[in-house]
Amino acid sequence: MGPQRAGQLERKGLRTVGDALFFLPLRHEDRTRLTPLRAIVVGQPATCGGTIVGISPPPPGRRRAPLVLMLRDASGFGTATLFGRAYLTRVLKRGQRLVVHGKGARFQNATTLQVTDWELVDSGEDDRIHTGTLVPVYSSTEGLPQRALRALMWRLVEAHAAQVPETLPEPVRRRRALLGLPEALRAIHFPPGEAALEAARRRLVFEDLVLLQVGLAILRSRTTRARGIALQPRGALVGRLRAALPWPLTAAQERVWDEIRRDLAAPHPMHRLLQGDVGSGKTIVAAMAMLTAVEAGAQAALMAPTEILAEQHALTLRPLLEPLGVPITLLTAAVSARERTARRRALAAGEAACVVGTHALVQEGVGFRRLGLVVVDEQHRFGVAQRARLKAKGEHPHLLVMTATPIPRTLALTLHGDLDVSVLDQLPPGRRPVKTVARTESRRPQIYAFLCEQVAAGRQVYVVYPLIEESEALDLKAATAMAERLQKEVFPDRVVGLLHGRLAFDEKEAMMRRFKAGEVHVLVSTTVIEVGIDVPNASVMLIEHAERFGLSQLHQLRGRVGRGPWTSYCILMTAGRLGEDAERRIAAMVETTDGFRIAEADLALRGPGEFFGTRQSGLPELRLADLLRDGATLEEARREALAIVAADPELRAPEHRGLRQALLDRWRGRLALASAG
Ligand code: ADP
Ligand code: MG
Repeated sequence: MGPQRAGQLERKGLRTVGDALFFLPLRHEDRTRLTPLRAIVVGQPATCGGTIVGISPPPPGRRRAPLVLMLRDASGFGTATLFGRAYLTRVLKRGQRLVVHGKGARFQNATTLQVTDWELVDSGEDDRIHTGTLVPVYSSTEGLPQRALRALMWRLVEAHAAQVPETLPEPVRRRRALLGLPEALRAIHFPPGEAALEAARRRLVFEDLVLLQVGLAILRSRTTRARGIALQPRGALVGRLRAALPWPLTAAQERVWDEIRRDLAAPHPMHRLLQGDVGSGKTIVAAMAMLTAVEAGAQAALMAPTEILAEQHALTLRPLLEPLGVPITLLTAAVSARERTARRRALAAGEAACVVGTHALVQEGVGFRRLGLVVVDEQHRFGVAQRARLKAKGEHPHLLVMTATPIPRTLALTLHGDLDVSVLDQLPPGRRPVKTVARTESRRPQIYAFLCEQVAAGRQVYVVYPLIEESEALDLKAATAMAERLQKEVFPDRVVGLLHGRLAFDEKEAMMRRFKAGEVHVLVSTTVIEVGIDVPNASVMLIEHAERFGLSQLHQLRGRVGRGPWTSYCILMTAGRLGEDAERRIAAMVETTDGFRIAEADLALRGPGEFFGTRQSGLPELRLADLLRDGATLEEARREALAIVAADPELRAPEHRGLRQALLDRWRGRLALASAG
């Protein structure tokens, strides 16, 4: 083809024949069953074909008016309207045959087809490709009309689909009744019928998911084969910690701890995900794991996604571990440069047993003398790539990843297919669901009266303000003003405290201690209390500008209350007209306190890409599979993937050559498979 066409294709990301074969249609139109013009229904999508019998361009000066085409087919006459395409007046001519796709609509008191795609068709040789069949519709582009693109795809598929090497081993294809890859490609572009199209889709979805799962299985099998440090102390420290707790562990905590303890004692590194809703008691389990490492003479690191969360963790862990003679070192950017150097040296020398910090601990290559355990909180931002980096440092510490966002099982398998999963599916006893309501400004007086009642009854209150980086100064001012107003006007004889990220660590610590001790009754805070803080006496969480928070954040915030024996409340204050998504987030919060359902709602709202931060996760792209829709296929693919990798961990067998090549393509360098076959 000429350079111009090649340039157009390149803009679509298509450079090679291979690229083009995997450039899949957006949809197919069944042009064997066109909707008769007379049968167009308002509000329903339709594809119609007809001959142009009249063209009315938009009247001069009325650029927003549509171009209206009068069409004729066997059923009679009908109109098609095209907005913003007045230039077609010069392209289209009476007598031409046209296929139009769009939606039925009312226009000037008549039913019309409001067109999204249109295409000129000829009769004759066209029937095979453009008309008398299921016709693919591609994402086209300026200067590259649908028809030309389709004709090109037809030539490429005819000539080259058969040369595409098979990726799936024959037994897998037979077992799962899947088409061969060449056949599937041909049918996904130019299907001879609906059934063939469906079979092609199934095969290509399977392909997507198997490539994902085989890659994850390879990563995982390398971990389980790697030599790690067996952490197998007598358990004295854990015993003392448990004896000091005012309550017994829940059955779920016992079960999960047992799983973790076994993993730690094994000579291969643990790679485990700990899922548990807010308040399910993950911290104590992490603390036990850290103590186990320390007692076995190794070091433990806990990593959080942000500085603030790291500080929070240090605050939570200190009272648990320090009485046992296990000091916690905090390593964040807030620590002075000199102090930081000193702390890093202590870690390198093995004098500091436990460190809490951000992911920078891994990224900046902080040295350890004998790192036995890494605990990662909030896995979303700590993906496959970072995990790989941890290993690339030549160390194989045990890894415990904790998440407060319960993920539907199939999705956990995708993102964490290289991890074992433990679930804390039980809250400590006596918890009652938090009553959640949404309120607007007009109710503020009643809300304040309610807060006063609660405080008078001995409870404490959180008031949370959103703080976003772009408007940090303003947000901070708003929170400060709110604290002053509450103190002066609402709680003149109580103590209102203010907590925000700009405070020094000591100041924050002091404020939280005072709140925990009950000396501060109302704590106004920016989102710093999102994770970690634990004050069972607090019974109200008032969230200002709730519409500005994400769903999982709201759920986390709500999880700060409902930790004591009394009924607790979460009040979501919203201001102004809410966007549709904000409306749904608030509705989901009011409707359920179940973290699992919140996670699903969040996933549905944001889509898997954003929910997981897929780009950061280091996972390969999916071409056709949809994680929400294709859960069942995902399970099948996973089973096959595990079997393949169990039998041939580095895919050296000749029957895995195609699979291996496809993996190299999809995962790029991230799998570090030796590239020579
Ligand atoms: P998570 O980190 O999973 O959100 P936390 O570890 O902060 O939850 O625990 C929530 C609260 O429950 C804390 O007050 C903690 O002390 C308490 N807790 C944890 N385990 C138990 C238990 N087995 N019985 C009673 N309370 C518990
Ligand atoms: Mg926690």
